[in-house]
Amino acid sequence: WTKETVAVVTGGNKGIGFALVKRLAELGLSVVLTARDKQKGEAAVESIRAQLGLVASHVHFLLLDVSDHDSIKTFASSFKAKFGATLDILVNNAGVSYNELHENAVDQAESVLKTNFYGPKLLIEELLPLFRFSSSITRILNVSSRLGSLNKMRSAEMTKILESEELKEEEIEEIVKKFVREVRNGTWKSEGWPSYWTDYAVSKLALNAYSKVLAKRYNNNNINNSYKLGGSGTKLMSVNCFCPGFTQTSMTKGKGTHTADQAASLAAILTLLPPHHLPTGKFFLLKNNTTF
Ligand code: NDP
Repeated sequence: WTKETVAVVTGGNKGIGFALVKRLAELGLSVVLTARDKQKGEAAVESIRAQLGLVASHVHFLLLDVSDHDSIKTFASSFKAKFGATLDILVNNAGVSYNELHENAVDQAESVLKTNFYGPKLLIEELLPLFRFSSSITRILNVSSRLGSLNKMRSAEMTKILESEELKEEEIEEIVKKFVREVRNGTWKSEGWPSYWTDYAVSKLALNAYSKVLAKRYNNNNINNSYKLGGSGTKLMSVNCFCPGFTQTSMTKGKGTHTADQAASLAAILTLLPPHHLPTGKFFLLKNNTTF
């Protein structure tokens, strides 16, 4: 990897995002660390530069609040002004959780969905024109959670829609809107949504489903390896999801089976798999600290 390869990581000021920026920089890529707080983002870049020395001279900071569409647009313009259409790798890592969903806590549900689902989706849409696409490196990694696995959904009807090979973006959005309506009406508990960390699980479920739809769109002939058979002018890209497992960060109040550095190291391996080994439309799970 060289510094010609450009990666963007969201939520890079702490936790897994910070550790991943550090790891990618250490491996020689140019990395854009993004954060919603300028001071925290700049301090994180300084800390990485200090830890890695010269090798981290290609770590940059740009401001980005993924829950704010205007911030996403401003970020895309700033990226374009600084780097042009050279984006190779996007890691949607930023996320929030409030643990349990309380009765009628619609503000909480909306905030989680805006950050964990709509944020990555709008950011991908805004950045699509800035991907390089000419290389075999183009890839998106969405940091997700096994709490958003389909087997957590207790409604057979919604599961059927979400697991369909013909799933459409609009159907995912309908399901997300239905969830918010039911939280607002106070009826969500009896409607078959995941029973644990419900709003967080729905946000990651939607993110997984959207990743699958996107992977299919950018995968020629819908085959398992995204770069086979790419004719000239074909835009191909790999889109995968990754669950880091129970990781010691602020989200888990420091609890977990492994550190953010360990989770990030596996995320980096997955992100940088050679083109002929890189799948698309897959969900990877870091389990028991060592295996996918
Ligand atoms: P942290 O809470 O340590 O880090 C979350 C990061 O996301 C912070 O940088 C935070 O910034 C940022 N963030 C939150 N909201 C926004 C926003 N609106 N715009 C931009 N950045 C934002 O958590 P983790 O490192 O653990 O989480 C990283 C990812 O891993 C998340 O997507 C999470 O869902 C996922 N995950 C984590 C697990 C774990 O056990 N830790 C398990 C499974 C999945 P700020 O400091 O400003 O709040």
